[in-house]
Amino acid sequence: MASTKPCKTKVQDKVAIVTGGASGIGEAPVLAFAENGARAVVIADIQDEKGQKLVESSGTNTSTYIHCDVTDENQVRSLVESTVQLYGHLDVIFCNAGIASFGKQNVLDFDLDSSDKLFAVNVRGTAACLKHAARAMVDGGVKGSVICTSSAAATLAGVRFTDYIMSKSGGLALMKCASYQLGEHGIRVNCVSPGPVATPLACKTFEMEVEEVEKAFQSSYYLKGVLTTKHVADAVLFLASDDSEFVTGQNLIVDGGFNFQGIPKI
Ligand code: NAD
Repeated sequence: MASTKPCKTKVQDKVAIVTGGASGIGEAPVLAFAENGARAVVIADIQDEKGQKLVESSGTNTSTYIHCDVTDENQVRSLVESTVQLYGHLDVIFCNAGIASFGKQNVLDFDLDSSDKLFAVNVRGTAACLKHAARAMVDGGVKGSVICTSSAAATLAGVRFTDYIMSKSGGLALMKCASYQLGEHGIRVNCVSPGPVATPLACKTFEMEVEEVEKAFQSSYYLKGVLTTKHVADAVLFLASDDSEFVTGQNLIVDGGFNFQGIPKI
């Protein structure tokens, strides 16, 4: 006989913040959290129109949009405070807002001023979000989950994008330190590291259209097919949920094998 028990969904009743949630890799977990039982999903971004549209199109009353520039610590503090005021506590933050290198950023022509702007978002912004979210979790006695977006490129060498790769390695270091320090509070900290996904950021980075990005990387994966934001969202959902309740300090690479090319098949 079929069970009449309600099925516990992955992030049942959890309150989550997604930074950079208005576009690309952030957008898919917003929808996934809402579909998987979250009580509230706060989309934090600087693209107000896109963020508001996503709230409307998510078709639930679970999502809220809050303008937050992650480079401004006061805005990040206020984002977390507003979330706790609205929903009582914070269980999950996906620290995902990020930008790409301005220009090529080969070391011989390194534009250090534009690197400062990139680090302000990718490193300082991630640290600010992690700091204030973790503080709210500790103060609220919540055994929460922090997930940061690094990149499959974080440990690779590149002829370009030097500062971007540095910033994503920085994200891994931040995650390692934070997981070590916050474990005693029951707070888990992990990274998700996507391979190339055809988002606005990837199109800008590679100076290609969506289809060109997808085509360019198709033969680089072990697995056949195209890496999508849904694949990344599934990993984020796992790290946010109690299915990963004893997983911390890890970097979950979602790239279909892109990062593990191994010895050439000769
Ligand atoms: P995207 O440009 O589609 O989305 C990034 C979002 O971050 C945008 O909505 C943007 O408005 C927001 N954002 C930028 N600066 C911000 C700020 N100061 N404050 C708040 N929000 C801000 O790009 P994406 O590809 O979805 O990137 C999301 C994350 O994934 C980034 O951290 C990126 O480095 C990482 N990533 C992307 C890829 C890829 O191939 N697309 C691969 C690996 C990692």
